[in-house]
Amino acid sequence: MTLKIYHYPHKVLREVTPVITVFDDKLETTTKQMIETMYAGDGCGLAAPQVGLSLRLFVMDISKEANQPQCFINPEILESEGAIAREEGCLSLPGVYAKIERAAKITVRYQDVKGQSHTISVDGIAAHCIQHELDHLNGVLNIDRLSKLKRALLLKKLEKVQKATS
Ligand SMILES: [Zn+2]
Repeated sequence: MTLKIYHYPHKVLREVTPVITVFDDKLETTTKQMIETMYAGDGCGLAAPQVGLSLRLFVMDISKEANQPQCFINPEILESEGAIAREEGCLSLPGVYAKIERAAKITVRYQDVKGQSHTISVDGIAAHCIQHELDHLNGVLNIDRLSKLKRALLLKKLEKVQKATS
């Protein structure tokens, strides 16, 4: 079952999500549905607020074959270094791409769907994607990280896309 994806400017995208403390079957089901929704939308990451859930959780798959889904619960960036700008898309901002600067390398601590804690160090697309999704858990969208002018231009473009598809 795929879930409905909420688009900008829906207010659920602005919520700061609370920490997850219960690791049960329901959480596992939610995670599976989010992964399915991410694949259906052809995205490489999807955060819970994007499907209307105020949960500190996101899923990601940056493999070429889209067969290695990962789930990050209660993620926290412990260390970051460097900076790199990459083009980003977002399933909540369809048709809009923006070059966003983020840390080049990060160390993240998170829990898996069973509640087990992991710490990983990543760079490249993985680092970029994790920072984008983690922003969602704090009610932050990638366009917030742009200059006022660039944001205004992108929002105009988004408006056109939304009009064309509605
Ligand atoms: Zn996004």
